[in-house]
Order: sequence, then C-alpha cells, then structure tokens
Amino acid sequence: MRICDLGERPPLGEIPEQMHAFVVRPEHYGEPRDAFRHEVIPTPGLAPDEVLVYVMASGINYNNVWAALGQPLDVVAERQRRGEPEDFHAGGSDCSGLVWKVGEAVTTVQPGDRVVVHGACWSADDPWVRAGGDPVLSESTRVWGYQTNYGSFCQFARAQAHQCLPKPEQLTWEEAGCYLMCAGTAYRMLRGWPPHVVAPGEVVLVWGAAGGLGSMGLQIAKAMGGRPVAVVSDQARRQFCLDHGAVGVIDRTHFSHWGPMPDTGSPAYGDWVKGARAFGKAIWEALGERVSPAIVFEHPGQATLPTSGFVAATGGMIVICAGTTGYNVTMDLRYHWMRQKRFQGSHLMNDAQASAASDLVAQGLITPTLSRVFPFEGIPEAHQLMRENRHPPGNMAVLVNALHPGEGAA
Ligand code: NAP
Repeated sequence: MRICDLGERPPLGEIPEQMHAFVVRPEHYGEPRDAFRHEVIPTPGLAPDEVLVYVMASGINYNNVWAALGQPLDVVAERQRRGEPEDFHAGGSDCSGLVWKVGEAVTTVQPGDRVVVHGACWSADDPWVRAGGDPVLSESTRVWGYQTNYGSFCQFARAQAHQCLPKPEQLTWEEAGCYLMCAGTAYRMLRGWPPHVVAPGEVVLVWGAAGGLGSMGLQIAKAMGGRPVAVVSDQARRQFCLDHGAVGVIDRTHFSHWGPMPDTGSPAYGDWVKGARAFGKAIWEALGERVSPAIVFEHPGQATLPTSGFVAATGGMIVICAGTTGYNVTMDLRYHWMRQKRFQGSHLMNDAQASAASDLVAQGLITPTLSRVFPFEGIPEAHQLMRENRHPPGNMAVLVNALHPGEGAA
C-alpha cells in the first residue's frame, strides 16, 4: 500500500525534528487535487494540555475540501490573524494512532495508548468552559485539523488530551480513523437538543444518507429505535442505506423543486409547493404510513432547507450542521410558526457526545462505514472525489504511518 517512504518509526516518546505531511498553502488554494501537496515540515512542540499522536490512519472529511478551496474560510489567514506564524495548513480532523508524547499537565493518556481523536477543541481557560458550560458553545471552540494546524494528515498530529478516546479494539487502524468526526457530530444533532432527541418509533429524515455524516445519522437514529428515511441521488446508494438502518429510501433526482424557495404568492411558488408536497408524500410512501419526520437531519442547506422546513412534523425539529449547497436560508415561515417547529443549528460535539458515539461503535451498534482506503499519497484524490460527490458510500480513510490495510485490530 505504501508508495512513498515516510522513514523509520522513532522510539516511543522521541520526536523527530521534521515529519511528512500533506499541506495546503494559500498560493495553491483551489481544487483539492492540486491544492494538497506532500511536504516535510517541522514537528510541532506541545502546550501543557496537549499530546502528539503518531497517526496510523486518518479519515477524510468535507471540511478539508473547504480548506483546500480557501472558502468559505481562508484557514491560514484566520490562524495568522490569531498570531500563529505558519503559512500553511496541515489539516485532517479524524485519526487513529498511538499517543507518542504528552504535555506536562496531561494525566488522562500516556505514551503508547491506542486512541482515536475527536475533532473538537477549545481553550480550557475560556470563561464559559471554566464556568462549566458546554464547551462547544464557547467562543474558543475550533474544528481540529481545520481551524487548527498539525491535524491528522501529519505523521505526528497535535491535539488536546481531552480529544483522545480509547480506540475500539476490534477495528483496524483505518476503520478506527474514519468515523468519529461524523459520528460525534451526528450524535449531537440527534441526541444533543432535548426534548428533540430520537425516541423509539420516531421518523427521522436523513439527507445525504450515504455520505459520511448521513451514514452515521442513519445508524444512530436506528440504534435509538427511530425509523430513519434516507435521501440519496443515486440508485446504487439505495441498498447501502437499507443495509445501514433505513426503513425507506427516496431518490432526490425524482424531484426538481430544489434551491431557494420562490416568493410566496408568485406562480413559481405554486410549483414549488407541489414539489415539496410530493416529496412529503414520498416520505409517507417510504414509511408505509402518513407520519412526518419528528427530526430532519440537515446539512445540504440552501438546496433542501425549504423542503425540510415544509415536511417536518408539527412540533418537530430541523437540525442542521452545514450548508454544503449554500448558506442563504429560505423557508415558508407560516408552516414554521403555525406548526411550531424548531430550527436548530448544531456543530461538532463535546467530549461526552464523542465518547457516547464512539461507544456505539465499540459495542458494534453502529459501524464506521469505511468505504475505501487510500495510501498517504491519496489525500488529494480522496478530497477531489468528495468535492465532486463521486466518492463511494460511507467514510474514506488514508493510511498515514500504517503500512498496510487490515492492521491494528486486537
Ligand atoms: P459527504 O460524504 O460528501 O456527504 C454529503 C452528502 O450530501 C452526499 O452523499 C450527497 O448525497 C448529499 N448531497 C450533495 N449535494 C446535495 C444536494 N444538492 N442536495 C441534497 N443532498 C446533497 O459529506 P459529509 O462528510 O457527510 O459532510 C456533509 C456536510 O457536513 C459537509 O458540508 C461537512 O463540512 C459538514 N459537516 C459539518 C460538521 C460540523 O460539526 N458542523 C461535521 C461534519 C460534517 P446524495 O447525492 O446521494 O443525495
């Protein structure tokens, strides 16, 4: 599997001065296949609450498609504004590996521990965090390996110790490295906003259900006793969704009312309502009864949100963690207030939610949905496939220090 030589593994706890990494530089922002470049960069030092992880495998997440494009956030410029000197982005938000060295204040993990790393970090000194608030709601929250440097596309990733969780022992390095960002985010979306938590029998509409996030949403909804209805754009993805807990699958290409909602009262609005109603009916057909979704699991955003708002049940919740197709929100507010629906933003996960999601994997109640394993050099290609929505169902992984697929399971 290994194509380039990343060198010998140093003794545990010893940090080489330099390491291999895939980085993005502002002068190369653009399509992922060109933006990601293999470089040798200095290995970072550690703050007292940080750890270095010898990365065995890394997951591929959509956030590093955004990082490659330099939009909607120029991640390098943002970090430089905060006073960080690096003129590159060495990202990656998911990994499995070995704790290699720990900062002087770290007590929760030690060198040699086999871990997975969740993608949410924050400042322990943040007043909100110190006061015991949900840390993900603090101003200091950052997406690890997107808004921070030295993520999992490095031989040695730098993380805060609280991000490390025990690696589910039955998983290979690549299975363990690919699921936690999506699983933790999906867990918070479906369990983190009471009283709108998936209850047995409840219907959950999952957009992009064969994607990284959707495949986790699907499985978590099912594991909680819910009845997930999956949306996909391709017949080949249908069976994947049925195999991962969907009670029914809708092909969104059978509808054409996508995009921002036309002005209410315009003739185009009439056509839009017809499309939204037909989509709602497709949900009932998929279920075999006229029950609307208590929770709509959203992330496409602009293209689908008007429909999500329309089809959510009275008193239901549309929970959203991204706007992959755009950020302009349109929605028929009449349905929103008269039917007393909730529109909830959700982002990342806290430690407890990451741990709960990873426990579901460790217990075999959900699977990592590993779809394809790339060598280290495959990082640009994997992101390009994702950018073009041509990637296989589930989550992709790349081997970083692991030499071959299939290693690491106890
Ligand atoms: P992914 O694997 O590419 O899956 C996204 C899915 O969206 C695709 O499988 C596709 O499924 C569907 N899709 C694409 N275009 C669509 C459209 N026009 N209308 C409806 N569905 C469409 O990506 P992912 O890993 O699931 O991530 C999805 C989004 O969530 C990304 O923007 C990512 O950055 C974000 N995210 C946010 C957080 C957070 O904490 N805020 C965490 C993880 C991910 P079909 O074509 O089959 O419908």
